[in-house]
Amino acid sequence: MTDDRFHVYDTTLRDGAQQEGLNLTVADKLAIARHLDGLGVGFIEGGWPGANPKDTEFFRRARTELDLKHAQLAAFGATRRAGVKAADDPLVAALRESGAPVVTLVAKSHDRHVELALRTTLEENLAMIRDTVSHLRAEGQRVFLDAEHFFDGYASNPAYALEVLRTAAEAGASVIALCDTNGGMLPDELAEIVHEAVGTGARIGIHCHDDTGCAVANTLAAVRAGATHVQGCANGYGERSGNANLFTVVANLQLKRGFDLVPPQALADMTRIAHAITEVTNVTPNSHAPYVGVSAFAHKAGLHASAIKVDPNLYQHIDPALVGNDMRMLVSDMAGRASVELKGRELGYELPAETARDLVERVKDMESRGYTFEAADASFELLLRDTVAGERRRHFEVESWRVIVERTRGGELVSEATVKLHAKGERIVATGEGNGPVNALDKAVRAALERLYPDLAAVELVDFKVRILEGTHGTDAITRVLITSSDAAGEWATVGVAENVIEASWQALEQAVTYGLLRAGHATD
Ligand SMILES: [Zn+2]
Repeated sequence: MTDDRFHVYDTTLRDGAQQEGLNLTVADKLAIARHLDGLGVGFIEGGWPGANPKDTEFFRRARTELDLKHAQLAAFGATRRAGVKAADDPLVAALRESGAPVVTLVAKSHDRHVELALRTTLEENLAMIRDTVSHLRAEGQRVFLDAEHFFDGYASNPAYALEVLRTAAEAGASVIALCDTNGGMLPDELAEIVHEAVGTGARIGIHCHDDTGCAVANTLAAVRAGATHVQGCANGYGERSGNANLFTVVANLQLKRGFDLVPPQALADMTRIAHAITEVTNVTPNSHAPYVGVSAFAHKAGLHASAIKVDPNLYQHIDPALVGNDMRMLVSDMAGRASVELKGRELGYELPAETARDLVERVKDMESRGYTFEAADASFELLLRDTVAGERRRHFEVESWRVIVERTRGGELVSEATVKLHAKGERIVATGEGNGPVNALDKAVRAALERLYPDLAAVELVDFKVRILEGTHGTDAITRVLITSSDAAGEWATVGVAENVIEASWQALEQAVTYGLLRAGHATD
């Protein structure tokens, strides 16, 4: 276990899972827990056993299937119901029996919530906290307390809100996390209230929602005011605007404030972990996410490019390698030779001046025809490789393809594609059926290549974007297609441009497969 003086407490599996559109199976939760443990967080809140059957199962399976190196599991649940003993409350029993070394109890600290939502007296609410905490402590459990709606409660009745903290601490709760449940706080006023709470002598934690866009700032302000336990969610997941992004919080505290929260080599793996978790949640990663977004250290080339080449640190707030990210040059039509050389170097190529000039010309020409390489790194790399090689190099050459879209009598749309191609000296004809023409083409190409390249099975098409570009100089409108693909290790994007949407899609698809094969270690020559 990590140092107990400062806690990094993750609540992705409980509070983060409240995000609209996020649906985690027990296996997903176990996979995310492993990733979070790899980052080195201290606590992983697994859910609410007893109240939610899936969460009960999570804790049951975690005992045999999770081998956590850093983190301890926390079971989340409420204080006992009004009017019963904690020892007799079945939900409290489920927490005790979860096997989690920590129980995090949620309790009301806002007087009006006690009266309106719990429908009990302020005194009984304090008794519920005292009784439940001391019962669990007597059972050998470590107890944290989430003080729900604490900041709004403090505004309504500060004496009562602070009394809740004192009661929980006296009963044996080792941390009391102040929750900005409605997410409406701003850093300065939040810090003042945290300061008051620290004054009670209780150990204080912080749990922020991002409704003001200040969840991370509020968390940092709370730490400055004396909180020694921070809660947050992977990638800022959570209901409404999300929870405090735990990755941003950890990176800020460790790199800017000198806290020693996670091992440096784990921090240097944070970008990969953040993306691996998006693979499990199936939520498109935010490319602008601080520290871990693919654009977090991306620079628009042109004006700055030659200076960045001399000293990259003039243009970035940290060395991206500290969080496992990379400085990335966006290749745009502003790109001068310096940025293309730099981009080449980033991809591992030392480009001779002449090749770089040649490549700049090709990029400019293609961008004038509607291509974009800013969002299609993989297409750029293929173009670069072809320019360096002086010829177009592929694992397969297509002879022809055909797609039929049929509306059946039942009104169903079915697409069928046939692809004829040459690979490793063979001519292969394959067909594929799909829910649309691109899906059918994708399946046909895979069917054609799966025997020669079985690892293509790991490549997935994850996003497909179509944009119609206005025609210029009296020409017709053209279509640009961007395809994002992924394998176990990451994502890449390719671009195709044509008047016909299927032809544009085909170009992007052909490059996506080619790039996937290169990533899997198959050389083109
Ligand atoms: Zn919350």
